[in-house]
Amino acid sequence: MPSRTTSPATAATRAATARRATRRPAGRSSAKASSTRTMQAVRFRRPKSVTVADVPQPELQESSDVILKVTSTAICGSDLHIYNGLLPQLRPMTIGHEFMGEVVEAGSRVRNLRVGDRVVVPFPISCGSCFYCGIGEVTSCSESNPNWGPEGGLLKEKAAALFGYTDLYGGYDGGQAEYVRVPYADFGPRIVRDDMRDDEVLFLTDIFPTGYIATDWAKVGPDDTVAIFGAGPVGIMAAKSANLKGAREVILVDPLAYRLDIAERAADVTTVDSTRGEAVERIRELTQGRGADVVIDAVGMEADRNVLEKASAVAHGQRGTMKVLRDCFSAARRGGRVSIVGVYGTPYDNFPLHQFFDKGLKMYAGQVQVQSHIDHLQTLVERGEVRLDDIITHQMPLEDAPKAYKMFSQKKDDCLKVVLRP
Ligand code: NAD
Ligand code: ZN
Repeated sequence: MPSRTTSPATAATRAATARRATRRPAGRSSAKASSTRTMQAVRFRRPKSVTVADVPQPELQESSDVILKVTSTAICGSDLHIYNGLLPQLRPMTIGHEFMGEVVEAGSRVRNLRVGDRVVVPFPISCGSCFYCGIGEVTSCSESNPNWGPEGGLLKEKAAALFGYTDLYGGYDGGQAEYVRVPYADFGPRIVRDDMRDDEVLFLTDIFPTGYIATDWAKVGPDDTVAIFGAGPVGIMAAKSANLKGAREVILVDPLAYRLDIAERAADVTTVDSTRGEAVERIRELTQGRGADVVIDAVGMEADRNVLEKASAVAHGQRGTMKVLRDCFSAARRGGRVSIVGVYGTPYDNFPLHQFFDKGLKMYAGQVQVQSHIDHLQTLVERGEVRLDDIITHQMPLEDAPKAYKMFSQKKDDCLKVVLRP
């Protein structure tokens, strides 16, 4: 009979917890950098309020850090969850997790990068050596976030740290700034080819891997019809990815006609304007009444809602809504696969578990493990097999960030994707 010893996994978890407890919160301390030099950065102050302010430039804190001079940074639908107050952030912080730039300083232990290298940076902050990084689940890295834990609770025990993404996710300053500190620099950043413009590679940091992973989790292949809810940047990247995987048909649903128009030019899609009728019915019509083999939720909790739906969410203590996930379950064929990359931040009542069970659906969800996929995706971009910059609608200086956030959030001026230049 085997003796009762502590399993290695349990011991490792305890050791990691002890290390985190004795360590200063890596992210927060960067805001206190004692540099006398200042820089411009996009600061989240409170819901609906971002400013561009002078803050201290970041400094190396660990020998595995680099400092980047940011050359391009984009605003993501995920930034809107902070901007709109759906993810809580109490103290002001520098936001932004889609960025690239040039290495201007490297810690003494950094081996893979040199000053002068031009890099794109995956949005998860992951150590590269813990249990989770070892199995490719880099967004569960147990080392980077002082608020990490196995539970995945509402306000505690979250996943890996993310750049510029609230104290819940480590409190690290983000890249919508002139400079940014990049921890674990041998594991995250990837050097980009000199002949490629920033716009051609910037979306390797987040939205292309996100769209791609949604199709990869669901094992999209040539026999599949893929329905995607949301023709935002993530939905369109998912459509491009389904095209790359040779899907038979890609159906893209959104209530905004201008976004569907951009999507039609950027990918091979059949579009469904959800203001013109029941999207689920239309998807069934297009699939012999069965529903799609694969359905992707690229909307998340901030789906469009009427006043009644908003009141109901307040009554149930929920942030946003899971109405798109409901539509995904309905739009999937029996036995179909549902990938959720749209973000959900709270529990939701009346989760249709009966339908999930009766239809025998399979479901995948989470933040994308960028570091585990970026090399393959970078090769696709370098070979010209996919183009990423054709969704950019606005290029603006960093100082216009407040205007840009408002426009992107309100979907004004046919805005789909904003790139800011510090
Ligand atoms: P976005 O806000 O630009 O796009 C969302 C789109 O959904 C909009 O075009 C909107 O019109 C559409 N929409 C709203 N209600 C809808 C409905 N009922 N049916 C169909 N479409 C509807 O945001 P984005 O940048 O494309 O991001 C989309 C989601 O992906 C966000 O929740 C974001 O946080 C998430 N995201 C997740 C990851 C990840 O790693 N999982 C990474 C990046 C972004
Ligand atoms: Zn993002």
